[in-house]
Amino acid sequence: MSIPNLTEHFLELIRRSSTDLPEDVETALRRGRDQEEEGSAAQAALDTILENVRMARELSTPICQDTGTPIFYVWYPEGQSTKPLKAQILEATQEATRKYYLRPNAVDSLTGKNSGDNTGIDFPTIHFEEWGKDSLLVKLVQKGGGSENVSRQYTIPSAEFPASRDLKGVRKAILDAVWRAQGKGCAPGVIGVGIGGDRASGMIKAKEQLFRKLGDVNPVPELAEFEKSLTKELNELGIGPMGFGGKTTVMGVKVGTAHRLPACYFVSIAYMCWALRRRTLTYSDGQVTIE
Ligand code: SF4
Repeated sequence: MSIPNLTEHFLELIRRSSTDLPEDVETALRRGRDQEEEGSAAQAALDTILENVRMARELSTPICQDTGTPIFYVWYPEGQSTKPLKAQILEATQEATRKYYLRPNAVDSLTGKNSGDNTGIDFPTIHFEEWGKDSLLVKLVQKGGGSENVSRQYTIPSAEFPASRDLKGVRKAILDAVWRAQGKGCAPGVIGVGIGGDRASGMIKAKEQLFRKLGDVNPVPELAEFEKSLTKELNELGIGPMGFGGKTTVMGVKVGTAHRLPACYFVSIAYMCWALRRRTLTYSDGQVTIE
């Protein structure tokens, strides 16, 4: 398959992601709003968020001032070189910054200088994976800085965190992370969890969970049950939207696993804010689809 230059479509992928919150996320926010007490601070916070979501979509402006780290996952067909795809994604990212769909967010870690166009060393994040299909799939999620700051990784058991190497220990880690966040990182959040892997692959696994639809069901029955019960338990903590108290602390918990070394058991928690900006581009049979 020969893939044409898709730069303008990657630009549209970024615009949609940055300005148009996915339907499942908006529905979850609306459901949260309706279950909060009438006139409460929690309900007011969710009303403001929903109004903001509406305006961003209407005006094609970013949903949040922090447009986050753009994280791309690219699945490409056999024989396709990744070099042009990467160049097109970078060009689209720069153009999206010029058009204000993205805030300039890439800062040199030594000098503190902002590159001004959202590109830099390993920025944006792009993962490539060859697959057996004759099509291209590109997923984008924008991970906000506040939510990244309250993301955590647990080594269990450890002196700081005694816990068992099973779902009971994982539960303890998730409860601890959300409790410590106390609404920072802009609750209600979505909790992506990676069990196992090494320190890097575990966090990648956790972030991959953020692409899952909120209403989906984990294909592993044990994890499906775990996700459901943890979501309920976290929403009973009373932290609420932006930490104002209330019933809507998280919109979902999504868990994936990776094989690990016998010596290691990491629980990686990617806390995602309410602004779960994610979109998908598909190129197949000469057609581009963005959802
Ligand atoms: S954590 Fe999310 S909602 Fe909060 S400021 Fe950052 S991007 Fe915006």
